[in-house]
Amino acid sequence: MKERYPRLEINLSALSHNVREVVNACAEQGVSLTGVIKGVTGIPEVTKVFADGGVDIIGSSRLEQLRDAKDHGIEKPLMLLRIPMLSEIQEVVSLCTYSLNSEMAVLEALNLEATKQAKVHSVVLMVDLGDLREGFWDKDELVEAALKVENEMDSLYLAGIGTNVGCYGSVLPTVDKLEELVALANIIETKIERKLDIVSGGATSSLMRIIDKNVPKGINSLRVGEAILLARDLWLFYDYNVDNLRKDVFTLQAEVIESKVKPSHPQGEIGVDAFGKKPVYIDRGMRKRALIAIGKVDYGDPSELFPKDAGIEIIGASSDHTILDIEDYDGELKPGDILEFDINYASLVYLTNCKNVRIVFCED
Ligand SMILES: *Cc1c(COP(=O)(O)O)cnc(C)c1O
Repeated sequence: MKERYPRLEINLSALSHNVREVVNACAEQGVSLTGVIKGVTGIPEVTKVFADGGVDIIGSSRLEQLRDAKDHGIEKPLMLLRIPMLSEIQEVVSLCTYSLNSEMAVLEALNLEATKQAKVHSVVLMVDLGDLREGFWDKDELVEAALKVENEMDSLYLAGIGTNVGCYGSVLPTVDKLEELVALANIIETKIERKLDIVSGGATSSLMRIIDKNVPKGINSLRVGEAILLARDLWLFYDYNVDNLRKDVFTLQAEVIESKVKPSHPQGEIGVDAFGKKPVYIDRGMRKRALIAIGKVDYGDPSELFPKDAGIEIIGASSDHTILDIEDYDGELKPGDILEFDINYASLVYLTNCKNVRIVFCED
């Protein structure tokens, strides 16, 4: 049988290497790791590599992905990263050891449901240190909630506190920011007269503190996805050296369906494109171009794909087609040829979520 395209090839040995590198780098500084699987829509084979590579907890924003992990025999504790919806409380309690929280009403619902299921559910209270996504903003309210969980909610266990930066507000996990989190943990620990198990200092961007070896004492946990899966952001946006991490875990392969010489400027009266936009077209004369059978429906935005071959430029896309300028490509392209692309986080989340894209696994 012929291979079907488009395909997303996942190199499990490269992935395993990255999991171990990040786990070890964190462990050296007393930081344990939650491996975050939402970037690949929780593909169970990927989750298994995370688990085998030594992460302590498997985390996702989506219960469906955590359910998949469990159904595939993953035995690590599971953590729901997005604040639970009241409509999903029952499954949060039955499935997850941990959830991240910021609302008293949700904590109360979790406590009730855990009592009903005769379970103890562990919660991490989120603090908003300025990124302005989730978390308690009022620090007194945070401490009050912590005390309430500790003293009044018999079926909840206050596992710790955490923060998230660099997601909405683009705030950096500086030493100062993370020290704010440790200070809040200390206040709570004094009041409850015990240590918190988890002080969770953020996501991939907080690995900057691990690489610089200046993670404040007291931060003992991070929740990392992107650096393990792609290892692009720290290097691309912050110029951090992550040469020890492999960038070749994912390769997108798409099939050429047309290859012709055409004008580079549309011919006729110009209206709007398939998505109602008015792109600017530059007239570069007649050019060699190719069409591949993949489009915005599959990956979101064509600027998030990176051709592996020199001389290939993505010039546009509609739902199901991507248009390439191949004038400078060294060689001929014809229908049936396969082209390869690197991807980033944005295209990865779409591609793994798309049922038209075949996921295949390889090893070195
Ligand atoms: C997605 C997410 C993470 C992981 O983020 P990466 O940048 O992929 O490491 C960590 N924590 C929370 C709350 C998240 O939603």
